[in-house]
Amino acid sequence: MKLIYLFLFLPLAIFAATPNYDVALKKLMEGNERYITQTPERAPDLEEKREETFEKQTPFAIIVGCSDSRVAPEIIFDQTIGDLFVVRVAGNVIGPLELDSIEFSADKLETPLVVILGHQKCGAVSAVLSGVGGEDMESIIPYIQKSVDETKGMSGDPLTNAIKANVVNGIKTLKKSRVISALLKAKKLKIAGAYYELATGKVEILE
Ligand SMILES: [Zn+2]
Repeated sequence: MKLIYLFLFLPLAIFAATPNYDVALKKLMEGNERYITQTPERAPDLEEKREETFEKQTPFAIIVGCSDSRVAPEIIFDQTIGDLFVVRVAGNVIGPLELDSIEFSADKLETPLVVILGHQKCGAVSAVLSGVGGEDMESIIPYIQKSVDETKGMSGDPLTNAIKANVVNGIKTLKKSRVISALLKAKKLKIAGAYYELATGKVEILE
């Protein structure tokens, strides 16, 4: 084979070797960087995007985020129509309805990445931590309580600890799903935990 072909196809081969979920995570992190540096590029022509995605959606990532108005996934990851399958609920908890939505996208739409996104100063976690959740968060509280209890007495900021533990518990919940664990085993899906800092706009991937 002529050397020129090698140079032409080698980058393609390397690209093909990178799993879809790693490509997806890279796309998200690059988008977050554009958001922070105020150089967005993904939503210049929304009419075109609407037409492009009319027949079929192929989102490249599932975001499980909080309903908090300051943590809008398409904006903080600089993505557009058709890019993200978003499940939002106060405290980014995963109950039966959220799990079904995630499974639908991962299995039926073959979305290769799930990101559970906690965030700084989460009001839902904060309310449970200080015991003021009450009736308006009745069905959400038990999901968060577990993380609050687990992190009691840990060093560092109690709220940040509970928010991050809540993300980890979300990952554990997902792994218990038969659909999700089969996809993980087949290497068709990856789950990542993340933390969004309100102050800077930065998304940190939790190990
Ligand atoms: Zn929140």
